Amino acid sequence: MKNLTAPMQFFPDTGWIDRPSQLEAAVEGEQSFDFAVVGGGVGGMLTALRLAENGRQVALLESDVLGWGASARNAGYLTTAVGSDPAILAKFYADRFRGLVRLADAAVHFSEDLFGHYSIDCDYEQTGVLGSAVTASQLKQVKTSAQILIDAGIDSEIVDGHDLGVPDTFLGGVYARAGGILNPGKYALGLRDAVLRSDVTVFEQSQVLDVQDDGDSVTLVTRRGRVQAKKVVLSNNAHARELSIVPRRMSNPVWTTAIETEQVPPERLDEAGWTSRIPMVTMHMVMESYRTTTRGTMVITTRQLQMPRGKLTDHLPDQTIVADLVRAFRTRFPTLSDIEPAKAWGGWIGMTPAILSVVGEISPRVLYVNACNGHGLAQAAYLGHHIGDYLSDKGMHEDLQVVWRPKPRFAPGVVYPPMLRLAWLADRITDRLGQVH
Ligand SMILES: Cc1cc2nc3c(=O)[nH]c(=O)nc-3n(C[C@H](O)[C@H](O)[C@H](O)COP(=O)(O)OP(=O)(O)OC[C@H]3O[C@@H](n4cnc5c(N)ncnc54)[C@H](O)[C@@H]3O)c2cc1C
Repeated sequence: MKNLTAPMQFFPDTGWIDRPSQLEAAVEGEQSFDFAVVGGGVGGMLTALRLAENGRQVALLESDVLGWGASARNAGYLTTAVGSDPAILAKFYADRFRGLVRLADAAVHFSEDLFGHYSIDCDYEQTGVLGSAVTASQLKQVKTSAQILIDAGIDSEIVDGHDLGVPDTFLGGVYARAGGILNPGKYALGLRDAVLRSDVTVFEQSQVLDVQDDGDSVTLVTRRGRVQAKKVVLSNNAHARELSIVPRRMSNPVWTTAIETEQVPPERLDEAGWTSRIPMVTMHMVMESYRTTTRGTMVITTRQLQMPRGKLTDHLPDQTIVADLVRAFRTRFPTLSDIEPAKAWGGWIGMTPAILSVVGEISPRVLYVNACNGHGLAQAAYLGHHIGDYLSDKGMHEDLQVVWRPKPRFAPGVVYPPMLRLAWLADRITDRLGQVH
């Protein structure tokens, strides 16, 4: 097996796109608005945009640059993924499982419409997404889960890998026809441009350090100033728990790593059996994802998750995890073993206890949302839009209702360090026992 031989570029943020050189000013002094949104990822940007489009006066406060969190760093799958294992969801969320499926599907179509609406060129390709087994036991399992999703109304089919034009190492599974892949860096910055063109007042470089609800209005405290608002939306993903007002256990932060290869000639992808170029995720406990890009490279993500050892800071990817991702790539694409990794980066994901989007109120003035969970690119934007409408007195959309929490209380989550290590080990044992090559 090859180790990392070629020099790679390691990024503390994203390898998809360059950071904007011009940043918006930070909050200074005392400011007052009707609404304020904390966190400028796709979720926060869509909330603020919708409020402004509804004629509301709104400020958006972002620690760094709009879009520069998970939104600009992800794998770029616009996916109808619902949450954790469909069998578990169908059992424990029986009353709203169909609603969760409907939300996931609507979120993808909503995001596709956004690109045209805001003239965002983000290299979107409507490919669908294959959830593929790499072992016979996974295949059996994925067929059962797929049937549950299909019965609940998701636009998917159970497929054999051969029929879909993917490499032999991917045995097939569930092919979701909706969705596809995009360049998330271009998407996030395209949305940022739309926000900057709108009536939203944007403060970048403005980390909210504290949220003080005095029962009448809410004050957001930043290093150099304070923003007062009648209503506030907390849309700060993995960083939620840094604010003491956020419900305990609402989400756990995990760090996810991505690598990008050097360019792969198209004929080499054909030889590898990937004639369809359909993006894939594996059915491991901690999935692997494989996709092509319009710049002729491949992007591979996840396989291992890390928990923070203290503060949630951006950092360079861990060499061992990068090497493990490269090992996975070489195993799944044996004929591309000479293709070198070129870049690596990563980002923080907020994982909710049931790995489902959550929205609710801490008080009549403070609303929280976390739609990330590693598959929330479409849902964060879609729910943000509906939160904007809800706060503009347009009522609660049924897709917002389905993830709305009546009380800000959460059960303990399933994500903690030994469990992540065990999941990785279990996945490697599954790989070894199920080796087909
Ligand atoms: C490597 C990786 C791969 C992924 N792959 C996929 C994928 O293929 N498909 C998919 O659907 N999802 C994927 N995801 C998840 C996806 O990126 C998220 O679901 C989505 O971006 C969530 O958007 P958001 O607005 O909720 O969060 P973010 O984009 O993280 O935005 C939150 C923002 O809040 C800001 N912030 C935090 N604290 C504060 C504060 N106190 N004050 C002010 N601002 C604050 C942050 O700086 C950040 O910009 C992936 C994530 C990662 C990291």
